[in-house]
Amino acid sequence: MHLISCKKNDFLITKTIQKISLYSSETPNKCWQCDYPYKSELFCQKCKTLQKPPENLDYFEILGVKKNYDIESKELHKKYTQLQNILHPDRFGRRTEKEQEYSANLSSLISKAFATLKHPLDRGIYLLKLNNLTISDTTKDLKPEFLMEIMEKSEEVEAASNDKDKIIKLIQEITAVLDELSKDISNAFNNDDLEKAKSLLVKMNYYATLDKVLKKTKQDLGIVD
Ligand SMILES: [Zn+2]
Repeated sequence: MHLISCKKNDFLITKTIQKISLYSSETPNKCWQCDYPYKSELFCQKCKTLQKPPENLDYFEILGVKKNYDIESKELHKKYTQLQNILHPDRFGRRTEKEQEYSANLSSLISKAFATLKHPLDRGIYLLKLNNLTISDTTKDLKPEFLMEIMEKSEEVEAASNDKDKIIKLIQEITAVLDELSKDISNAFNNDDLEKAKSLLVKMNYYATLDKVLKKTKQDLGIVD
């Protein structure tokens, strides 16, 4: 008898805890306009009023893509365009001031998320950040061989300033290095080796800078492939 009532009690306690946690975290939001309960969707399903976006969403969640270094750029672009379409200011011209404000905020947040996630370097750095890691600007953690490699490349880039063929060749070379680094970074993230991902992203950062310099020079010289 005693055992049974104890079990019954445990059961009740568990149920109560479940209820409490349900109320604290999963109570649906209410539409600010019509009080209809909804669950973190952009618009109230009843009156179609735009809602304040849920806080603490990361860029992957905002765009509705899987939280991963490997990203389908087509899918990312599609989601981005869909969302921006929905949030276009023209659609809110006749809506409430609050909705205009929400749509503008959400739209700029979506742009920021897209700009970060579409770029392999920024995406990697952002993923590190979600894991409380950052890449430092100092060269003190770099291996001397890598410093040497990057110094030589920088000199080559500088020396190529007016040589169109040399610039195109260097861009091809560096693009190949960046692609290779991106593959290694993907493997590191997939193996949960964050330290490895971090050191590869430091390297990518240097090469991406050289890539930017070269592409700017290419543009300035009016080189078309
Ligand atoms: Zn509503």
